Amino acid sequence: MTSRAEQRIAQLRDLISHHNRRYYVDAEPEITDREYDDLFDELRSLEERHPELATPDSPTQRVGGEPLRGFTHVTHRPPMLSLDKADSPDALQRFDLRLRKTLPDDEKISYTVEPKVDGVSMALRYEHGLLVLAATRGNGLTGDNITANARTIRGIPLQLPADKLVPDFLEVRGEAYMDRTGFDALNQKLAADGKKTFPSARNATAGTLKQLDPRIVAKRPLRVVIYAISPLVKWPQDSHYETLQTLKRLGFSVPHNFWRCTTMTEALSLAEECKQQADRLPYDIDGAVIKLDRLTAWDRLGATAHHPQYAIAYKPRHWLQQSQTRLRAITVQVGRTGTLTPVAELEPVFLADATISRATLHNADDIQRKDIRIGDTVVIERAGMVIPAVVKPLPEKRIGTEKPFAMPDSCPSCGGPVRRRSGNAHDREETAWRCENLQCPAQKTRRLVHFGSRAALDIEGLGDIVADALVRADLIEEPLDLFELDTSRLARLNLGTTDKPRIFGPKNADRLMAACNRARRLPLDRWLYALAIPGVGTVTARRLAEIHPSLNAVAQSYLLADIVKRQQLEEAVKAANPRRHHKDPKSNPADASEADRQPRTNDAYEELKKQYDAVNQRLAGRDLTDLGPVAAGAILDFFQSDAGCRILDRCAQLGIKPQASTSARDEAITREGIAGKSFVVTGTLENMSRTEAESRIRAAGGSVTAAVSGKTDILITGANAGTTKLQQAQKLGIPRMTETEFLALLDPNRKPFSG
Ligand code: AMP
Ligand code: ZN
Repeated sequence: MTSRAEQRIAQLRDLISHHNRRYYVDAEPEITDREYDDLFDELRSLEERHPELATPDSPTQRVGGEPLRGFTHVTHRPPMLSLDKADSPDALQRFDLRLRKTLPDDEKISYTVEPKVDGVSMALRYEHGLLVLAATRGNGLTGDNITANARTIRGIPLQLPADKLVPDFLEVRGEAYMDRTGFDALNQKLAADGKKTFPSARNATAGTLKQLDPRIVAKRPLRVVIYAISPLVKWPQDSHYETLQTLKRLGFSVPHNFWRCTTMTEALSLAEECKQQADRLPYDIDGAVIKLDRLTAWDRLGATAHHPQYAIAYKPRHWLQQSQTRLRAITVQVGRTGTLTPVAELEPVFLADATISRATLHNADDIQRKDIRIGDTVVIERAGMVIPAVVKPLPEKRIGTEKPFAMPDSCPSCGGPVRRRSGNAHDREETAWRCENLQCPAQKTRRLVHFGSRAALDIEGLGDIVADALVRADLIEEPLDLFELDTSRLARLNLGTTDKPRIFGPKNADRLMAACNRARRLPLDRWLYALAIPGVGTVTARRLAEIHPSLNAVAQSYLLADIVKRQQLEEAVKAANPRRHHKDPKSNPADASEADRQPRTNDAYEELKKQYDAVNQRLAGRDLTDLGPVAAGAILDFFQSDAGCRILDRCAQLGIKPQASTSARDEAITREGIAGKSFVVTGTLENMSRTEAESRIRAAGGSVTAAVSGKTDILITGANAGTTKLQQAQKLGIPRMTETEFLALLDPNRKPFSG
């Protein structure tokens, strides 16, 4: 017969393990920490009063037992191996080829993709559903017996549910980690107690697992991710994907996201997806693991001494990598709109295949918020081609000579005053520090570089150095001066210093002039972007070019004027609504504004309403996404300003008449198959940039959107195509096209590729 205490103990253990699971496995707690602690305390006091009812699988055991004198060793059978690595899509494809060659021809290959958790590997053994052993990986052959420590980790089930899938002997393998917030809190506490802090979460995890006192381990925020079942287990399922699902059902924390697919190309884009979701995971990842899904094929493939053949860790060079270095100084750069941006000058470090000596610090507020000081040891990170960034300082490494940073009060380029304009909520740049001198050489250089950039007029050869030299030599005041450069003068341009001259040369000069000439004929959207009109990015530029035939049409746009007017009328109509005043009898007429106090006749209201409806009617049926009243107003203002008028005059005088690609459509470049169709481009194309592909589609009379929708006709897929887009296209039954097919569509006479 069971006593009341026994019943309650059983009930409490069930409840606690249920809530553990909601918290650690599902990440959806149902009760507060406080309520959880109450259940826990009740169980502990019941067990204290009835020691005969205490068991090793009770959650109370998680507080940790007596300290150990040392760890015993555990032999791993078979050994815990490392993983083979692929650092490029090509290497993955080679892995895929090798598998296909080794496996029988009729093997239906599918892959799973999951994060590679950057923690400390461990194995957990269960007998008849009860946790009996936990071991670190050690050297792969033998590790430490850390069972006492593992028991304190709440994410590790002490007892598995009765389930027909659970074999009598079960060993799972996974990674222990410390979640980011827990790690930060631990370091803060250690620092406050005057103790040594841990350099990384991984380091803290390894250090904690090696603790001989489980009570210390119990206080550390350790967690686990289980990613596989040991090869010796008699496991009833033959799919890794389904195994992960089962493990989760049994109460194990498995990777937060994992996918299954049938080709390596899909696996590749899922791996990219995995990377994209990485910030939202509580642990760091150092790659994605791609595994063959079918478990019986794992045995067939076997392993080398170092790694199994069924899996590969994908760690491409372009994925983010972090490192630490010293921040030597903070310099200030001036952007094309005069915005001042602080730049980190670093002690050079080697990171992601390059030596890094500069990194972005975002803005002055960010420096202050993160308390980054000159002289600090900082964490920097870098992903492929992206500019490296300073993530945070490591205050524990300070020696006392570090200095806080302050924005200079004069522009480092022209010496003019620096101002911080508060205000316009629509323009984040407005709150930045800026130099307001339009003649500022740094601004001239930045505007010129922007003008020639890829997405703008793509003027090859007009990089930072050339632009800077052109401005310094007074050859260029504003970007349009490029079209009136004297070639022989340009050829003599000195890119170096007076002491160490580096002359541009006639060949380069000719090339630059040719690139400028090509730019003359580029379509309107590229020009609109190049002119650096406030608030006009590539997306807005494209929209503007879709609804206007020329630069002058944009400058005098009745559409843009209507967008502004609509907003004004909408407000006026609201204010004039006669019913509004009846509704609010409490309002004191003395407080009301002039406009409100004027007696409103229904006539005035009707008149406004009529105008409002008329504007709406004129704008009806137009796609004006990305063109709000603020942007529209800013564009019109720009073309009315001195600078804007000068640009229009100058273009006319230079014979530059950029045309919208839609009107170019009439000029016989219409191609069957593209005209009138809506495209989405995803991934990296080999033969042209995405921008180029998009403008060629537009030039041929097609349209391009950023996201796949019911209106999309064709999805063009390059390498590393986005998963969401692929899935969406599949769901909507939208046909896909490879780059080769697309090239053929652009130019039907083109010969197919050989080889
Ligand atoms: P490495 O030691 O860098 O060769 O990587 C191999 C180790 O990655 C394995 O021993 C595992 O401990 C670890 N690992 C992390 N996440 C996974 C995962 N999802 N699947 C397999 N191994 C993983
Ligand atoms: Zn300046």
